[in-house]
Parts: sequence; C-alpha cells; structure tokens
Amino acid sequence: MLIDVPDTALTTFRAMWAELDRIGVHPTGTRRYSWTAEDAALRKWFTAQASARGMEVHTDANGNIRAWWGGRPADGDAGVVTGSHLDSVADGGKWDGPLGVLLGFLAVDALAAAEARGEFVRARPVGVVDYMDEEGTRFGVACLGSKLMSGVLDPEKARALTDADGVSLAEAMRAAGADPDRIGRDDAEITLSGAQVEVHIEQGKQLVGLEAPVGVASAIWPHGRWSFTFDGVADHAGTARLVDRKDAALPFASTVLAARAVAEELDARATFGRFHVEPGGP
Ligand SMILES: [Zn+2]
Repeated sequence: MLIDVPDTALTTFRAMWAELDRIGVHPTGTRRYSWTAEDAALRKWFTAQASARGMEVHTDANGNIRAWWGGRPADGDAGVVTGSHLDSVADGGKWDGPLGVLLGFLAVDALAAAEARGEFVRARPVGVVDYMDEEGTRFGVACLGSKLMSGVLDPEKARALTDADGVSLAEAMRAAGADPDRIGRDDAEITLSGAQVEVHIEQGKQLVGLEAPVGVASAIWPHGRWSFTFDGVADHAGTARLVDRKDAALPFASTVLAARAVAEELDARATFGRFHVEPGGP
C-alpha cells in the first residue's frame, strides 16, 4: 500500500535538518560521539521531535532511544521500528545516520495523516529509534548499543572499553548521567523491535551508475575489525643492508596487498584504516 507524503513534508524536513545542522558540525565534517555534549544535544533534538508528535520516548539501559507512536507498547508486543543512528565517524558525512532517524519521524507524520483520512489502520506499534554509538568512533566497537541490547557484546568487556583519552565507557556513561551497571541484553526491547526498517544513505556509488534514486537491500555485508601486530627489528635506515634487515613494514605491506587481492576475488571489501609504526623514524 502506498501512502501520500503530506505537502508539508519538505518544509518539515528542512526545519528538522536545520536544527540538527547546529550540532557537532565542523568545516571538515561531523563529529558526534557517544556520551558527549553533542550526543546529549542530539538526544534532546530526538526527544523534542517525538514530543511534538505526541510520541512517548523511552531510553533503554544501553542508551538506545526510541519514540513510540501512541505510547510505548506493552512488553511482549512486537512493533515495527524505523530509524538509524545520530552519531558519526570522525569528520563524518552528515547524512549518514540522521537521514534515517529524521525520515522515521516523517514516516510517522505521513502514516498519521493517512490514519486521519481513514486510509491506514495501525495493526502493530510503530516506533522510531536512534541506536547508541552505531559507528564505534569513541570506543572502537561498532554498533555498541545494539550489540549490548542483543547480548552479542559482554557488558563487562563493554564497560572496560576506553576512548583515546583513556576514559572508560563506564566513566563516560556516568558522566552523562547514565548507569553503566545496567547495560546488557534486553529481551523486552528485542521483542518490541519485532521488525526494523532503516533508510540509509548509500555510502558507495552503485545507485548513481544505475540512475536509481533508491535501492532496497536484499542482504547485508557482515563485517569485522581486526588488528595485526608485525614484529621487526629497528635498524639504521641509511646504512643497514637490506639483507641484514627485519623491516616490519614488509609483511605489513604484503598483508595489505593480499587482503586487497582476496577482496577483489570474492567481490568483498577490505580496508586498512589505521597503522602505527614504532619507533617510527623516517
Ligand atoms: Zn550509518
């Protein structure tokens, strides 16, 4: 069933977007990290949008925040949830995440208007979600909020994660007024998120080539992050003969090339995003 988008949708979109654009936006990109002042401002924006629509906001123990149309359903109900995340990578693109959350609210507007016209009947609870720390920028673990909620990530390990300044997740949560002792698997929230739909900007360029405005995902790339340590021996760059050396950069370089070759062969993806050389003499 197709539902007409209200004529006011574009105006609403622009007004909502203008407010978001004031939070954590720098000339080099967007910086919105979990449990920071920007994160609090984004939650405030989310809550205000929900309140304007008469939606009930519920923040779960893991920091994921949901707005329920018509109030939070009873435990055991299976809702339809749409949304995404409001955090960003370091100097990230501003559409990545917020677009899905914002359009979730606009979808509720469209459904509410259709309901008022008698063209739509709500059979299941509808919610909009913002998942906590989807990008993993601050603590190095992507999908932190949903991994904790689903029980994939051990709460004890999560609490001990630290950011670049050595601040642990537990400390960061406490500083933001949240209780780190309550994080972990949340069966009530899993059940309430009976079905989930996410609108997300395409991060590649395939739709451009297809001249398609929208694509519907039929599968999801599983992804993982690994760290490697290559041991070498520091030596004199100018004088040590190649034959006498044990340069750690060589196995590193061949690993990068090998990963790239395998990724091409399997039509997968491989990225080496961060490397650190010790002692690091030029
Ligand atoms: Zn995203």
